Amino acid sequence: MDNPRVSTADPHPLIACHDCDLLQRAPAPQIGTSVCCRRCGARLYRMTRDGLDRCLAMTLAAGVLFIVANAFPIVTLELQGVRAATTLFGAVRALYAQHMELVAALVFFTTILVPALELLAMSWMLGPLKFGRVAPGLSLGYRWVRSARPWGMIEVFMLGVLVSLAKLSHLASVEPGVALWSFGALVMLLAAAASSFEPHELWARVDALAAEADPQPMRIA
Ligand SMILES: [Zn+2]
Repeated sequence: MDNPRVSTADPHPLIACHDCDLLQRAPAPQIGTSVCCRRCGARLYRMTRDGLDRCLAMTLAAGVLFIVANAFPIVTLELQGVRAATTLFGAVRALYAQHMELVAALVFFTTILVPALELLAMSWMLGPLKFGRVAPGLSLGYRWVRSARPWGMIEVFMLGVLVSLAKLSHLASVEPGVALWSFGALVMLLAAAASSFEPHELWARVDALAAEADPQPMRIA
């Protein structure tokens, strides 16, 4: 996510290394290769053919899993004939009801609000690009995703749930719900989507669309 923005108008645009600030000319694009800084060796960007399309597909799939993970129970517990099941939002409400407002807010923020907004922002950026349009506020969405991603902690939540279930299994009958499996797959998809997201390709497509709309020479931003 730290890759600098370059213009596609020049076949060898100037590009600044985000690690050592060296300004250098980008080489001729070759699909499947990574471009590294010639001074410090940091990776500047990868050349992919369909990285953003794959990222969009995984983001949409993650969105479906996110809905399933929040709509169905995470786990069902049975103790002495009494069964209890809860969703993630139900767990937040239970924490709030037990006067653990801060913990409830933290769980809601890191496992529901931030992942939901991140998925929406990614879809908002990549969806219109797929159809040759630049979404309004794309730059704002990009900055927001960069800032918010470290606050999405579904994997930490998953780890906590699994440890709790392992301990509870000695006391009660524990039945994992659909949401638990969905959360597991969601963690993998979010990681894969973040890995395939290539900012260089994003801005190159934006610049190409801008050049089509306005054929005046573009500036390097
Ligand atoms: Zn460098």
